[in-house]
Amino acid sequence: MFRRDHRVTGRTQPPDTINNASPSNQLSRREFLNQTAAGVAAATVAGAALGSSIGHAAESSANMIGIQIGSISFVDEGVEQVLELLQERGAVNTVFLTTFTYGRGLGGRQVPGQPFPDHGKQESDERIFHGGNYAAPHPEFYQKTPLKQTRAPDHGDLDIVAAVLPAASQRGTLCLFHPGVRAFWTGLAADLCTSYDIDGILFFNERNGPLLNALGASHAQSIASSRVTCFCEFHQKAASERGISFDRAREGYRKLDQFVQNALADKRPGDGYFVEFWRLLVEYPEIMLWDRLFDEGKHQVLAEVNAAVKSVRKDLQVGFHIEHVNSFNPIFRATRRYDDLAQKADFLKVVVYNNCGGERYAHFIQNVGSTVFRDVPKDELLRLNNHLLNYETEAALDALPTAGLSPDYVARETKRALAGVQGKCKIYPGIDIGIPTGRNSRKASAADTYATTFAALKAGAQGVMLSRKYSEMRLANLEAAGRAAREVSKQ
Ligand SMILES: [Zn+2]
Repeated sequence: MFRRDHRVTGRTQPPDTINNASPSNQLSRREFLNQTAAGVAAATVAGAALGSSIGHAAESSANMIGIQIGSISFVDEGVEQVLELLQERGAVNTVFLTTFTYGRGLGGRQVPGQPFPDHGKQESDERIFHGGNYAAPHPEFYQKTPLKQTRAPDHGDLDIVAAVLPAASQRGTLCLFHPGVRAFWTGLAADLCTSYDIDGILFFNERNGPLLNALGASHAQSIASSRVTCFCEFHQKAASERGISFDRAREGYRKLDQFVQNALADKRPGDGYFVEFWRLLVEYPEIMLWDRLFDEGKHQVLAEVNAAVKSVRKDLQVGFHIEHVNSFNPIFRATRRYDDLAQKADFLKVVVYNNCGGERYAHFIQNVGSTVFRDVPKDELLRLNNHLLNYETEAALDALPTAGLSPDYVARETKRALAGVQGKCKIYPGIDIGIPTGRNSRKASAADTYATTFAALKAGAQGVMLSRKYSEMRLANLEAAGRAAREVSKQ
């Protein structure tokens, strides 16, 4: 994260190299902090605190009002212009600049096929978007990883390794147990924190464990039970260190795949779908252990990134993005202890996207209702899940995509996170501003954005993260978030 007042007071860098850039030229490396290449569903985001030394401080919020933004917005609209607008209209005081991603969720202009917001270039970047490291990687930080040349070519040099990485990732070779992959993440974090005058990082990793992948138990994926997990040598080594049988795990996942395929083909087991699923877990506890192993690997990377950042400077802030599935899947929820995560981070960005939340939640119910809970009518399954997760007041299944989730949902999930971390770290709920949804699904209105931002801060959050990226937000919505932040501050 960069503090804007550092530019005024100056530190190790020429303070004002980035200002007055016209929309398309002359960005210093500071702007380009937001580009990094990788091949996994993760991104590091550097944010800039727009400090109180510039105007309108009295009207800004006492809370952390962050926004996720990619490099393209600064390139298209100009650095000073964008920073000014974010502060004036959105009451934004911290910018989380996407530094490393291959994903369209955080990088690039509006998602192709979706309407453009009322700012930025009204033209798809489909053909130029690539992704990667949007900062300049400094080689000394990448000596222990094979992933050395990851600079994103979108705005400059072509990078052949970056072209290969996404494909490698899809093949599952970027395993969290691969020492080179771990060294890459810690190297990237150390590089950003050492080479630039930032305030901290936000780390994204939305990869699911093998059990959820097998069941399609997220909103974001289809059911692909035959390609669920990595059985690479590093994984096998980690498993044997914990006394987990690799052969039994593989056999268990093979049977789970068979169970899922049978369910999708409507071949009902004699004892019913749920009993058969539970029996598999009882007979192959390795299914659970292998899933747990994945989570351990993922959380170990978080701990290592945190340690790498703190070894650069103790006051650098480290945050983790907690994905949406944590909010509506009880099986996933059980694997995420807030008090445990709180020990590895200074803040958690907890996803509570309410507009797209409706269709995502409906999608999740459809997925689990097609396999494990196939014997349960889906509207009843939704009601059961609502009870389990304290969602009682939300819309019925067929109305969920158009209704979205309520501001009260945002408040409830914020309170749950705050209670979970017990004050050990800060909670910045991720606010949905114009995240693309299906044609007939709910779109964010200014009133929604006002209500959800207000609900999150009123529930006690220490800040909010305006999400997913500025290049998909309408300005009226941004302004509504700003108004809510200022009003909560005044109370
Ligand atoms: Zn592996």
